[in-house]
Amino acid sequence: MISVGDELLDGRTRDTNADFLAERMQALGLKVALRLAVGDDLDAIARAFSLALVLCDLVLVTGGLGPTEDDITREAVARALEARLQRDGRIEERLRSFFAGLGREMSPSNARQADRIEGAEWILPRLGTAPGQWIEREGKVAVLLPGVPREMMDMVEGDVVPRLKGALEGAGELTATLLVAARPESEVGELVGGAVSGIEGLRVSYRTMTGQIEVRLSSRDEEALSGGLARTREALGGWVVAEGAETLEENLGKELEARGLTLAVAESCTGGMVGERITRVPGSSRYYRGGVVAYTYEAKEKLLGVAPALLREKGAVNEEVAVAMAGGIRKLLEADIGLSVSGVAGPDSGGEREAVGTVVFGLADAQGGRGLKYRLPGNREMVREYAANIALTFVLFYLRGMEVGDVR
Ligand code: AMP
Ligand code: MG
Repeated sequence: MISVGDELLDGRTRDTNADFLAERMQALGLKVALRLAVGDDLDAIARAFSLALVLCDLVLVTGGLGPTEDDITREAVARALEARLQRDGRIEERLRSFFAGLGREMSPSNARQADRIEGAEWILPRLGTAPGQWIEREGKVAVLLPGVPREMMDMVEGDVVPRLKGALEGAGELTATLLVAARPESEVGELVGGAVSGIEGLRVSYRTMTGQIEVRLSSRDEEALSGGLARTREALGGWVVAEGAETLEENLGKELEARGLTLAVAESCTGGMVGERITRVPGSSRYYRGGVVAYTYEAKEKLLGVAPALLREKGAVNEEVAVAMAGGIRKLLEADIGLSVSGVAGPDSGGEREAVGTVVFGLADAQGGRGLKYRLPGNREMVREYAANIALTFVLFYLRGMEVGDVR
């Protein structure tokens, strides 16, 4: 993948096109081997393109297909392929009528968009004016795509992906992912490794995030993949918190709704991250009552009714206090379940007696409360992310009648 544009190199624009393309190609089972960003420079684009074509079977170029002087992808790729550029009268006419439709006359520079690389096929745009080009050379494929994200994405979904699917005919790799929470990576690795051993042509990879592990299975063989997935699911059981593109908070929402239960959250060190995650999910108002950020002792007392004596005696990062916070928010918002998070995210202890990274969680229902305490690794940002993941997992596992165990 090659992204073209000065604005991508100096940080003015984030290269979101490359992220999108990587995700789409991955979903097709194609392995992304190279990602480059180059400026609006004829020589740079031509060299990058030549390199990519040596290393890869498919090269996607995005950007530099517009009408302005800095749009030189066509010229650069033509040079790299030692091919001529030919003005296509039909496309020129199409552009002209597009502008006529807007009540404008086409400027001469717009006609450059009708320059076709010798041997290329046009990919006509449904959005915007820039046509893409599909080039096949010695068993390799290069595709030139517009840079405007909306136009690029439309062309990829509508033309490029279907065409690649046809060409791949099952030659690509299929993948399935599972998200596991609150289980150390080593244990997950052993469980999954044992479960899928002996399945030929199946690859397993792991990606650890703060408090979550993504297990990815891939294979060219559909049967190997579905067999591996079934065995992995069985081995991991209730530790699987989401599958495929689903998130932990989406799954938690589903399970809360299925049981007709409501949730309220009291947050300290996460400052609202847990509520933010929950409310990302459309329809969360059906089970999420709301929450408060109770940062100081005073806020914990006034908003959640935590006894001042308890806070003074135990400090804010204490399981008993966390349970009191959970009970307080549960009562305040009349929810079935109250959840709380309080911790020392760092870099210093903020006057608390617990070490940096210590985070406590509380959960309260009609029967009573329970607490959890962890010492989490990393900087402030990591500790807070870990804490939000554990908090959400705590509720999910409570619904499943499971305990949250080691998290790293
Ligand atoms: P271009 O046709 O290359 O001039 O691109 C038009 C506009 O699309 C640029 O001004 C950027 O704002 C945006 N754009 C181009 N390439 C990318 C990219 N790789 N990622 C995100 N946005 C891009
Ligand atoms: Mg550009």
